[in-house]
This record gives sequence, C-alpha cells and structure tokens, in this order.
Amino acid sequence: MGLTNPQYDRIRREYDKKQLENRTAQEAHIREAYSRLPRLREMEETTADLSYQRAERLLAGDTKAADKLARQLQELREGKQVLLASAGYPPDYLEMPCHCPLCRDTGYVNGKKCRCFEQAIVDMLFSQHPIHEKLERENFSTFSLEYYDREAPSGGESPYEHMQQVLLQSRRFVDTFEPGKENLLLMGSAGTGKTFLSNCIADALMKKGISVIYLSANQLFEALADHAYSREEAGQEEYYHWVLDSDLLIVDDLGTELNNSLVSSELFFCLNERELRRRSTMISTNLTMNQIRASYSERVASRLMENYRLLRLYNSDIRLKKREERLGLAANTKDRNDDGGR
Ligand SMILES: [Zn+2]
Repeated sequence: MGLTNPQYDRIRREYDKKQLENRTAQEAHIREAYSRLPRLREMEETTADLSYQRAERLLAGDTKAADKLARQLQELREGKQVLLASAGYPPDYLEMPCHCPLCRDTGYVNGKKCRCFEQAIVDMLFSQHPIHEKLERENFSTFSLEYYDREAPSGGESPYEHMQQVLLQSRRFVDTFEPGKENLLLMGSAGTGKTFLSNCIADALMKKGISVIYLSANQLFEALADHAYSREEAGQEEYYHWVLDSDLLIVDDLGTELNNSLVSSELFFCLNERELRRRSTMISTNLTMNQIRASYSERVASRLMENYRLLRLYNSDIRLKKREERLGLAANTKDRNDDGGR
C-alpha cells in the first residue's frame, strides 16, 4: 500500500493541473479588468517599460537614476491598487490565485515537499477521497445543534447546552492545535454525533494544512497487524510511517473492530508511540471506560484517562431523530427546536 510511481505521478499531475487552472484564471481576471479599466492596461505597460529602463540603469551602474525609477514604479503600483479598488476588485485580483499559499500550488517549499503534498500522499495512501467528499457535507458550518434536546433532566444541563460546550472545546482544539499538544476522546452512545464531530475537526484541521489520517478502528488494527506480521508489500513502510507520524490520527468507533488477542497490545503501542513522537490522536467510541478496561487493558484505559481530553456526548438518538424528520413524524420535536436551534 505504499505510494507507487503511477500514484506519485497522479499527484504531480494534479499540481500541474492546478497551476494551469490558476494561470487561466489569472489571464481571465486580467482580460476582464483591462476591458473595464483601459487606464489599468496603460499603467501595466508603463510598469513594464520602467522596469526595463531600471534594469538597464542598474547594469550601467547609474544607481541614482535606478532609484528614481524605483520610486516611479512604487507610485504606479499604488495607483493601480487605487484604480482596482475603485472598480470593486480585491487588491490581489491580478495576481495568480492558488489553493495553497505556502507553496503556491507547486507542491514544494525550499526544495522540500509542502504540507499539502504530504496530505495528498496520505490521502492517496489511505484512499481518503471519499472522506474528503464527506467532509464537504459534515463540517463545522453544517453542524446543527437542533438535534440536541433542550429539555434538561431535573436540575441538570440539557443535551443542547452540554453540546454547545463540547462544540466550543472542539473548536478550541482546532484553533490551538499543535501536534502532540492534546489528544481527544469522544465518548457517547451511537447516534450522539461523535462521527459528525470528528469530521468537523478533521475538516478544519486539514484546511489548516495539518496532516490528518482518518481510520476506522478496523482499518487501524489491520494496518498495525500487517506491519507486526511483516505482511507488507514493498512500500507498506510508508503507510505504517504515517499511521504513527501524521499530525493527527483519528480512530473512529473504537470497539467495533474484529477482536483478537493482539489488539490490546497493538493499540497501546500505537498510542504510546504517537505520544513519544509528539503527535495527536483522537478516538471516538461507544464504549464506557469500564468496557475499554475490559476489552483492551488497564494500561490502555489509564493512558486514555490521563492523556486524553474527554468529551462526552449524549442525547436521545440523533440518527433516529433525523430519520423521523425525513419521514415527517417528528413535528413535535421540530416545533420545540425551531426557536433558533442553530
Ligand atoms: Zn502547499
């Protein structure tokens, strides 16, 4: 499952395609702005002319004339900005647009692979494209609190109020993220929104250029077992490397994997190794802490209790609620949530 040459070439071609699209977009912007603002084209032509003259003066050692030309060029630049703004264009409208400001879609920064390139490798290795599609639907901007009950159990906090706090902490995790600084454990029964929340966090961090691997518990244990039994094909090392070394590893639905005697020690090894490498891990599970202790081991449970920030999620079953809503059976629930549920 390592990156093969054709896969590598496919990533490179994606970058070539992006750069071509960027150039095409830039040319379209320039054409449009020139046709609306003929004065802008004249200024661009003068700029080219003065730049040439300045280069000539510099070559001739005439720094005084070169400096004067530099000042004229600066005035022209400012004049162009004013003109663009007057027509309602952003200041960078004539510059080449790009998806990644770090490498400007070249894939490299100072001869090294950019973070976006590393994420592209991870995406390819872990077949994460379906996840990216999912993240377009499930992210912080689409997360809705309206599915959480506003009714509080006697004297306590309602699921709605509680979830507001969980959401706040999740955003803080994203905003202050540094690899290895913090780990998250999302606990709660099925249908309380753990996976949706994991997706929100994954999406926001990927957008910040953090390398994120999203694995179901089954996929994680398969990867670890493949390595333990040296079942890997050539290049599998790279896959394994990323399981331990991505900035954030998300393990979805711990406890649903096929159990075998090695699972517990493999899990402990993975969590421990990632901590040693100063990498963050986020785990979601339906299990309680006692069940974790029973299914894995005391040391896995205590590691999670000591080094993971616990976010507990609860509600009546959200998936059930969404289904009811789709079927039009939940008029009462909707009425209750209609007063500004988002
Ligand atoms: Zn980049």
